[in-house]
Amino acid sequence: MLDKAPNGKVSNLLNALDKALSAGEVEHAVDLFQTDCYWRDLVTFTWNIKTLEGKDQIRDMLKARLAGTKPSNWKIADGEDASEADGITESWIEFETEVARGFGHIRLKDGRIWTLLTTMSELKGYEEPLGFDRPMGAKHGAERNRKTWKEEREAEAAELGYSRQPYCVIVGGGQGGIAFGARLRQLNVPTIIIEKNERPGDSWRKRYKSLCLHDPVWYDHLPYLPFPRNWPVFSPKDKIGDWLEMYTKVMELNYWGSTECKKSSYDEKSQEWNVVVQRDGKEIVLKPKQLVLATGMSAKPNMPKFEGMDIFKGDQHHSSQHPGPDKYKNKKAVVIGSNNSAHDICAALWEAGADVTMVQRSTTHIVRSDSLMELGLAALYSEQAVQSGMTTAKADLIFASLPYKILHEFQIPVYNAIRERDADFYKRLEKAGFLLDYGDDDSGLFMKYLRRGSGYYIDVGASELVANGSIKLKSGVDVKRLTEHSVILTDGTELPADLVVYATGYGSMNGWAADLISKEVADKVGKVWGLGSNTTKDPGPWEGEQRNMWKPTQQEGLWFHGGNLHQSRHYSQFLSLQLKARMEGIATPVYGLQKVHHLS
Ligand SMILES: Cc1cc2nc3c(=O)[nH]c(=O)nc-3n(C[C@H](O)[C@H](O)[C@H](O)COP(=O)(O)OP(=O)(O)OC[C@H]3O[C@@H](n4cnc5c(N)ncnc54)[C@H](O)[C@@H]3O)c2cc1C
Repeated sequence: MLDKAPNGKVSNLLNALDKALSAGEVEHAVDLFQTDCYWRDLVTFTWNIKTLEGKDQIRDMLKARLAGTKPSNWKIADGEDASEADGITESWIEFETEVARGFGHIRLKDGRIWTLLTTMSELKGYEEPLGFDRPMGAKHGAERNRKTWKEEREAEAAELGYSRQPYCVIVGGGQGGIAFGARLRQLNVPTIIIEKNERPGDSWRKRYKSLCLHDPVWYDHLPYLPFPRNWPVFSPKDKIGDWLEMYTKVMELNYWGSTECKKSSYDEKSQEWNVVVQRDGKEIVLKPKQLVLATGMSAKPNMPKFEGMDIFKGDQHHSSQHPGPDKYKNKKAVVIGSNNSAHDICAALWEAGADVTMVQRSTTHIVRSDSLMELGLAALYSEQAVQSGMTTAKADLIFASLPYKILHEFQIPVYNAIRERDADFYKRLEKAGFLLDYGDDDSGLFMKYLRRGSGYYIDVGASELVANGSIKLKSGVDVKRLTEHSVILTDGTELPADLVVYATGYGSMNGWAADLISKEVADKVGKVWGLGSNTTKDPGPWEGEQRNMWKPTQQEGLWFHGGNLHQSRHYSQFLSLQLKARMEGIATPVYGLQKVHHLS
């Protein structure tokens, strides 16, 4: 008799899957899936980050990868129980491949697989030294000329990059490079992080003075070392900077501050990079096998070109260069743009006593922070979630288990509820002339972030200033030109200005590849970020995953890492395992390497 309880349903299905896959019976395995089905694989079968949509794609992948992967031991994860609600049975699962242990998540509908997530937890034989396997630290016994931990660290620092080459160089030591560096350290992959700023955390410290994280603490933990329980919900930028500096030290990272990567090239013959860096006034050439650009997706400024910028007599800069409001008391400020940075900067300038005008060219999605926290994030990332047993790792995996193709369907009701709850707020903003949107398909902030990485403001107070006219607004217009002392808009309005801030966003990360490697390589790998959703600033065709992030690119040995703190924490695991496997000579045949459809 079949066990109809959730555990029984999932176990029966997993047994059948195990049997079919072990026997190499692709068709039997495919039969276990719904017609409308998704299999998201983070590195276990595909050595790629890939969502297979529908039975045909699953069949193709299995035909190509089943024999090489040799999966086995599919079961409900130890200590977990399947659950059932609204006709969906779901469970955490475990499995193995020939070379790795995997963890995942499954959802069944009508007894067949609707969504399957398979992720690589660890490589067999290369497990991280954690828990019972943690290092001893002390070396008990007696030994002549023994080295202390400090001496060993100093010897490594003196040698790596000079007499011994790192396997991996990470360019960019912001939170992305640091979190990823920590993963590689645990996997014993010799790595150097190159950072042009002096200290870890400086990329946050150097941002405008009023900045606090827009995401709450539960979403922001770094790998291995969660924030303490007294950490503020929204970390001030300098505090997160200090945390990163501390983290870099205690995670024993080889972090080369005040070091700039000047250029790099790939030597096809030796299959290694020549990475030219400037350190302590000297040029050093590093020769890693793997080069990771963690130079920031919000770091390559999009600087507009307007007639008259060369004659403007006041201060003008991109938002990333904005020093803060202190010297602009009683000055006239014009902020071009209407997304996060524009709002934060306008509010800080207003607080400092400046006369501020925001210029909004096109619609912006606004969501009040408390509504986003309560309706958008609370189920997975909140104190309530923690209290009810949700861990960061599980929250990340639940999020990862929702295929991008249908993620908007889960998001639309959230933003509909937010619109209803904050209807008065939105009405007042519109009355002030603010042009609102909720995403092309009303799917809100997170989809905008994944698709285009821009187009929104998480309101922490500036919207009230816009609504009540404290921050003046010119909307539906663009800048025509600048004069010596003013900004002229396309509707003919002249805005006198002592300061112009261009809060005009950031460019695709392959721009970094163009700067640091070559235009050819930048074009070869193509646009970074976005899903191919065919919505504003995210042209099709559909990719199914974020372009080029955390996975192999068309350029051998070149990788992109970054994103918000959540993505950086989560995906650094899978990127580090991809590199570790390569270092150890484990076969990593990449299935479904993405094609390039857009150059930037
Ligand atoms: C105003 C603002 C608010 C944000 N708020 C949040 C938030 O609340 N939560 C969140 O998760 N994210 C937020 N983000 C996104 C934020 O950019 C990222 O979370 C974070 O900074 C990304 O880290 P990163 O390491 O990928 O990039 P960055 O922090 O940008 O770091 C990239 C580093 O690369 C270095 N670099 C670049 N070129 C070179 C070179 N040639 N040689 C050496 N070093 C180089 C830079 O100096 C820099 O330190 C915000 C971004 C901005 C701009």
